[in-house]
Amino acid sequence: MLKVNLGPRWRSSWGTQGFDRRSLRSAAASQGHQARPGGGGGAGGRRRAAPPLPPPFLFQPPPAPPAPRQDPLAGFLDKMAAPVGAQARKLLRDLALRPPLLAARSQVVQLTSRRWLNLQEYQSKKLMSDNGVKVQRFFVADTASEALEAAKRLNAKEIVLKAQILAGGRGKGVFSSGLKGGVHLTKDPKVVGQLAKQMIGYNLATKQTPKEGVKVKKVMVAEALDISRETYLAILMDRSCNGPVLVGSPQGGVDIEEVAASNPELIFKEQIDIIEGIKDSQAQQMAENLGFLGPLKNQAADQIKKLYNLFLKIDATQVEVNPFGETPEGQVVCFDAKINFDDNAEFRQKDIFAMDDKSENEPIENEAARYDLKYIGLDGNIACFVNGAGLAMATCDIIFLNGGKPANFLDLGGGVKESQVYQAFKLLTADPKVEAILVNIFGGIVNCAIIANGITKACRELELKVPLVVRLEGTNVHEAQNILSNSGLPITSAVDLEDAAKKAVASVAKK
Ligand code: GDP
Ligand code: MN
Repeated sequence: MLKVNLGPRWRSSWGTQGFDRRSLRSAAASQGHQARPGGGGGAGGRRRAAPPLPPPFLFQPPPAPPAPRQDPLAGFLDKMAAPVGAQARKLLRDLALRPPLLAARSQVVQLTSRRWLNLQEYQSKKLMSDNGVKVQRFFVADTASEALEAAKRLNAKEIVLKAQILAGGRGKGVFSSGLKGGVHLTKDPKVVGQLAKQMIGYNLATKQTPKEGVKVKKVMVAEALDISRETYLAILMDRSCNGPVLVGSPQGGVDIEEVAASNPELIFKEQIDIIEGIKDSQAQQMAENLGFLGPLKNQAADQIKKLYNLFLKIDATQVEVNPFGETPEGQVVCFDAKINFDDNAEFRQKDIFAMDDKSENEPIENEAARYDLKYIGLDGNIACFVNGAGLAMATCDIIFLNGGKPANFLDLGGGVKESQVYQAFKLLTADPKVEAILVNIFGGIVNCAIIANGITKACRELELKVPLVVRLEGTNVHEAQNILSNSGLPITSAVDLEDAAKKAVASVAKK
């Protein structure tokens, strides 16, 4: 089932993480599908190209060159019966040895059935402070007057006001109000009200957001502390290590990708055995690598252990603290927080998932999610209605190879109901730039007849005005084909994926 993280704080700093929306888009863009966040949803003008991403940062050495491919048919072909002629043998061999269409694009094949829940900084910090991790005192405000009130109540020497959006790089961001910087320090509580007024309700654009930024609905008002040193610390579930890894750098605060590129020797990594847990020596080693000296070393190690235990307890896939800082008074403090969660753990992390702030998703994505459908917006004109992530990407590829461009794809997933098919069509046709629909469903668990009934119902009720090409295969496909052909509707059926893509592209070209 295709589940892509539609939640923001989109980009993991680490290329090895699972697949999120932005990486999907960059992967799609690198294939010539110009990705755009979210769907048109009829609102027009919301379409936009995703900003270029910096190259993903990989902290492990580059993989060794692949071993020469072994002939997977060695032996097998020789055992085959004599009638298999040389040509058939060659064809089979070519097919078996051909690099799969998608495998060449490592990012695309990483597309996994994951949705990484993201929380706002204040939510992450609450979890952290509840678990003994050191964060500043703070309040959250939705209005400027609440922010001012919070600033007074904090009664702190200095206050830091931080826009809450699910993207990093806020410090260097710019608001649509003209205000520069999503993080402001001030000693005067009154200024907090004025600043918050220029934050709340405006878009904040950072290098991790789309160009026009993301609307700020909340601000965090916290007690500012002096920072004498900023380091970087993250705990990730890293597939290449089959488990958690601590990643740290004594040069935090700034863009960690830049440090990794210019000074890779300043990135330290400590692999943790998930069964044994984090060892004292590992936490101490990381604290030392981060440059914490004297009594600060034990304090930092203690914080690292607490962060690791939290990471496990909440089923996180990533906990990132940047800056993980020290104060002149000798405190180790987490000044920023970004936590991603494994959505497969939703059943046992109900409280956390209940905090999910979907307001930064595109409305069409939320609407799709209501019906258990996954929607990804792209910027072509052929809507793809598919089941499964692999089929989704294959469908996009084959449309592209045939000279077309996918407008989006909507993944139906497994246990399908007729009503879902109807809803899917409703969503797809709501996008004004969709000029044709390609249905490519493989009925494994799915019964094709249910899909066919859903399609005919949707066509009638929605008075479908764009060409519809349908390729169904698998369970109960003959009945499904009968349903479609007896419907009297102008549905073009296709025998296979290639045929479907050709017909869909041709139907758009004709217009
Ligand atoms: P980001 O830009 O979205 O990563 O937001 P951060 O929370 O990391 O804040 C950006 C920068 O603001 C940090 O790297 C710090 O240098 C600075 N900053 C944040 N909080 C404080 C604070 O309490 N005191 C001081 N002195 N600086 C802070
Ligand atoms: Mn930060």
